[in-house]
Amino acid sequence: MTTELLFRDDAYLRTVTARVAAVHERGIELDRTIFYPQGGGQVGDTGELLRDDGERIRVIDTRKGEALDSVLHVLHPDTRRPGVGESLTLALDWERRYALMRLHTALHVLSCVVVAPVTGGNIAPDKGRLDFDIDMSLLDAPRIERETNALIARAIATETTWITDEELDARPELVKTMSVQPPRGAGRVRLLRIPGIDLQPCGGTHVANIGEIGAVRVLKIKSEGRRNRRVEIALAK
Ligand SMILES: [Zn+2]
Repeated sequence: MTTELLFRDDAYLRTVTARVAAVHERGIELDRTIFYPQGGGQVGDTGELLRDDGERIRVIDTRKGEALDSVLHVLHPDTRRPGVGESLTLALDWERRYALMRLHTALHVLSCVVVAPVTGGNIAPDKGRLDFDIDMSLLDAPRIERETNALIARAIATETTWITDEELDARPELVKTMSVQPPRGAGRVRLLRIPGIDLQPCGGTHVANIGEIGAVRVLKIKSEGRRNRRVEIALAK
């Protein structure tokens, strides 16, 4: 079972109707969804599923299923499960998701301020981080914050494009993240472009214009092992 991933084409959809396609122990699958499943360092979405009779079902997490593009909506354990074929109205916890979109896009900008291989990353609603393979002496928090915010202030519109697996193989320089290779097997890979700043494979949710990030603060920079230097940021407001 694959789910139509509406957030890929429009990350700003907050609500939509969908039908239950399968009910599993771990969660339910829908024929289409606006809920982003945990992946690429970004946490899964939360929100609600509204039944026709007005009952609300809490979605406490979203995870990938076993099949390509399948999505499991993890329900609060105390809720009555919907049945296959049932029509539901989906509603995201939008403030949480929008913070994730802003922070996620901020990490793309950060990855162009700190020029080094990315060894890991994570995006939660309150903070995001990237790990770099770089010497500590090259990381200066005030400079990183200033330069990241200067790029954000250029308020550039982001673009999503797709390339084939073969095109990506021919351009290995696009892949900055050593630990997370872009998903293969679908024949094509999604790219996020911030014109003049960044271009890299990414399946996550982003803001339409980097100006929406506002500004970021560097929370801390610390050493995480011999090759890892962790830069942690938060939205300034
Ligand atoms: Zn991204």
